[in-house]
Amino acid sequence: MSQVEVKAYGAKASDADLEQLDIKRREVLPNDVKIDILYCGVCHSDIHQVRNDWGNSKYPVVPGHEIIGRVIETGNEVSKFKEGDLVGVGCMVDSCQECESCKEGLEQYCENGMVGTYNGKDEHLGGHTFGGYSETVVVREKFVLKVPENIDAKGAAPLLCAGITTWSPLRHWKVKKGDKVGVIGLGGLGHMGVKFAAALGARVVMITTSPGKSEDAKKLGADEVLISKDEEQMKKHTGSFDFLLNTVPVKHDLNPYIGLLKRDATMVLVGAIEPLEEMHGGGLIIGRKSVAGSVIGGIPETQEMLDFCGEHNIVSDIEMIDMQNINEAFDRVTKSDVKYRFVIDMKSLKN
Ligand code: NAP
Ligand code: ZN
Repeated sequence: MSQVEVKAYGAKASDADLEQLDIKRREVLPNDVKIDILYCGVCHSDIHQVRNDWGNSKYPVVPGHEIIGRVIETGNEVSKFKEGDLVGVGCMVDSCQECESCKEGLEQYCENGMVGTYNGKDEHLGGHTFGGYSETVVVREKFVLKVPENIDAKGAAPLLCAGITTWSPLRHWKVKKGDKVGVIGLGGLGHMGVKFAAALGARVVMITTSPGKSEDAKKLGADEVLISKDEEQMKKHTGSFDFLLNTVPVKHDLNPYIGLLKRDATMVLVGAIEPLEEMHGGGLIIGRKSVAGSVIGGIPETQEMLDFCGEHNIVSDIEMIDMQNINEAFDRVTKSDVKYRFVIDMKSLKN
């Protein structure tokens, strides 16, 4: 298959910095859309995968699954997009389209395994897929999203992962007006969780380890801030939450958070994709509580979220960086020091 070489940034080993390298992109197939990448968000998952925290990374890892760009070419069977359209690509670029999950528009749960935007199996060129820290990408039309033109394109990038990952559980667990919702961890995912829960009419409590983020949390839409390290404050909120969204990115103790749930309420984990500290069964049994998990969201739901953002003018709060500063950005995310998502200006790679 014919292919073209494009510039990218990636890591050649789990302990290596990201550096400029060349990767191959396929030429457009009949159902493909070719995108000139304008912006790409920096997700904590990018760091996990570069560092091989989940044990399945393939090198070089070219991260990036919060892609915003303009269509520059379409295959002859593409009907939804034309040259010049503002589009997005999230965490998936393909799935089987035949299993029950795919038929329901839940491609993220594809029973045959969805294809990740990076570190997925590249059926076309062989090897593995490369993400959005690059000049262009070629993606099957089905996995390309329309981005409303009225919202800021830079701030829209993180919607493709941080946005949908928080939107999907809020919708699936039917968070509604008046519910007391706690969002745990004020980072990329957390700040979108606060914005969405507030937009859905919930009473939002930001649950954070960083007292310094309190004012920002309120600006983002939180009605209250709960410092999770403060036992007195935690005690005051015992048994009071209708829903908790947990974005903590590392192994941690769930028990104190379970104590915050009301009877029959659920805490959904989206952050720690790894072993957790021991959980006390009593915490769940006494109160019929649930701990659940959720991964990104399906393509129809991602479009629904983007359209909602267009209607309500919601985007992420971002810090723009050049591609060349990515290693420093990774360090700052690891230290929970980003307000609240880094977005790479891909012009810096192209020049
Ligand atoms: P992030 O920007 O680094 O934010 C995580 C936040 O969690 C931090 O800002 C911090 O907030 C809090 N935190 C960090 N360490 C903590 C600890 N030891 N105990 C308690 N809180 C802690 O990360 P992100 O990009 O939002 O991603 C969060 C996690 O979600 C990552 O692990 C990522 O891989 C995962 N993820 C999952 C999905 C999915 O589909 N399920 C999708 C995308 C990402 P405070 O300072 O407020 O405490
Ligand atoms: Zn992500």
